[in-house]
Amino acid sequence: MTESINRVEKIREKLLSKFPKAVSELKFRDNFELLVSVVLSAQCTDKRVNMITPNLFKRFPNPEAMSKAEYDEVRSLISSCNLFQNKAKYLINLSQQLLDNFNREVPMSAKELQTLSGVGQKTANVVLIEAKGENLMAVDTHVFRVSHRLGLSVAKTPTATEKDLTQLFKKDLGELHQAMVLFGRYHCKAINPECENCTLLDECSWRDREGTLL
Ligand code: SF4
Repeated sequence: MTESINRVEKIREKLLSKFPKAVSELKFRDNFELLVSVVLSAQCTDKRVNMITPNLFKRFPNPEAMSKAEYDEVRSLISSCNLFQNKAKYLINLSQQLLDNFNREVPMSAKELQTLSGVGQKTANVVLIEAKGENLMAVDTHVFRVSHRLGLSVAKTPTATEKDLTQLFKKDLGELHQAMVLFGRYHCKAINPECENCTLLDECSWRDREGTLL
């Protein structure tokens, strides 16, 4: 048990020192742009989202403008993003919900955020981590892969993995989320992870598990 706690603490320390004060690579200027960017980033890369949003926000800079947008125009502006048809509907609907229910402001609680169209637990947590630095974990494809390779979770779903990581780490969750995203994106990649030069090599058993790509 002590050994396992030590291992978790070593992973925490190494991730936080490799990516000190890591922040999202999404580009946004306010909480509305943050929310829209995070909704767009589901099953889409941050790089792609950052290519889409300048034109989108120029045309629809706030909930008022986005709520009145024509579906076809929003769809066309975000068409290079995965799931763009559904996401176009989400953006128009959530903007109207912000006007109707939240006085034009993005709400800052997970419960309220999840009443918005297209916003689930992961999206809500990412918004709260970015906007408020809350002590929350959010599990995207990178966090899921890294945490499973490191043996921090064997859960089958992102939600169950989030629960495991939250119980293991307890604090620094937002920072660890950001660090694991960057670590998975640039180092512990889905294909050809850079195990030879990995700072977490001593804590990782993945290399011993033959041929399992998570
Ligand atoms: Fe990922 Fe390889 Fe490092 Fe393990 S040793 S955390 S699989 S890069």
